[in-house]
Amino acid sequence: MPETEVQAGAAGFRRASRIASLEISEIVQLAERSAVLRAEGRDVISFATGEPDFPTPQHVVEGAHAAALAGKTRYPATVGTPELRAAIAKINGVTPKEVIVSTGAKQVLANAMLATLEPGDEVIMPAPYWTSYSDIVSMAEGRPVVVPCPMTEGFKLSPAALEAQITPRTRWLMLNSPSNPSGAIYGRQEIKALAEVLARYPNVWIVADEIYEHLNFVPFHSFTAVAPELSERTLIVNGVSKAYSMTGWRIGWGIGPTELIKAMGAVQGQITSGACSIAQAAALAALTGDQALLDDRRATLLARRDKVVSALNAVPGIECPVPDGAFYAFPNIEGAMAACGFSSDAEFCAWLLDEAGIAIVPGRAFGLPGHARLSFAYSDKELDAGLARISATVSSRIAQ
Ligand code: PMP
Repeated sequence: MPETEVQAGAAGFRRASRIASLEISEIVQLAERSAVLRAEGRDVISFATGEPDFPTPQHVVEGAHAAALAGKTRYPATVGTPELRAAIAKINGVTPKEVIVSTGAKQVLANAMLATLEPGDEVIMPAPYWTSYSDIVSMAEGRPVVVPCPMTEGFKLSPAALEAQITPRTRWLMLNSPSNPSGAIYGRQEIKALAEVLARYPNVWIVADEIYEHLNFVPFHSFTAVAPELSERTLIVNGVSKAYSMTGWRIGWGIGPTELIKAMGAVQGQITSGACSIAQAAALAALTGDQALLDDRRATLLARRDKVVSALNAVPGIECPVPDGAFYAFPNIEGAMAACGFSSDAEFCAWLLDEAGIAIVPGRAFGLPGHARLSFAYSDKELDAGLARISATVSSRIAQ
């Protein structure tokens, strides 16, 4: 680009303050660096992205095809097609008015924050949290209140830690179970204990992000199933991206009190209108079709999880707890970082990518430094090759 053009852009452009701190996500940066290395002819194995490697099921694709051929190609209702809303409502034991369908679970979260936050309102998020939580809250001019939940506490929020963070400005608590990136799942008693605290603070609403619901290796409990007394101020977030391998179809939903759903619909109506009509037909096919595929996927992921956890624990300076759900390992890498001469997880991960051609995401992206996230939604072949490379590269650096 000629220099004059660069200067013109720099002089004329100013970011709005509400997105001043938004940066390109660490995961995107890793993907870009991986692409550069690949273009140089390097063999890069990426464990960085959060999507299943399974294909979208055939009957789901056929559902979309049939909808397109049947002319379901017009603007759909803003909050979702009646068929999909009804199916989601039936599965969850609510009325369709308590359901909004959006362009991915991500838009559900963004709608909720834009619809409810006043500038400076606080949103409590236990760390490690999914990277987008803090950015979405900041974009909506809220204030993320990050509560570190270390590995020694199973990466889970305790009732005492929750209560210590609640102020009159607290608007939301964002819970995610099964968790990205830790794989932690809140048990029935753990949810009950948090609910007891929340019952005392009616100003605090709850986001229960359950997008990994079906990817569980221990029993999963939905927040409102355990704490129905809080359903009048809980937004359940879910979608088809993870369980049905439909990340590209962009369909997620929120379930909550009708006033909240209406407000979120008002936001969505001015941003995207209704989610893609064909993708909604595909999501309907996923929800109403054969569910046995979920068992197969769980079994495959469980075998991969065990492989990854034991391989990582064999690497000097890496301590990997067993994730109970989702498809991520979130080991503590502080020992390996120090032994390899790095003072941060980001430096360690950058080195691992350049040296070994392995992409994993530093824990700081999830609000808990000293860890790294490795997705195991990859083939056995890639996992075997990648894990062997991590082990060899770290061991040889330590031996130097
Ligand atoms: N919540 C969590 C915890 C996630 O990991 C993701 C996807 N990475 C989302 C929400 C967003 O999912 P969707 O593809 O439906 O926007």
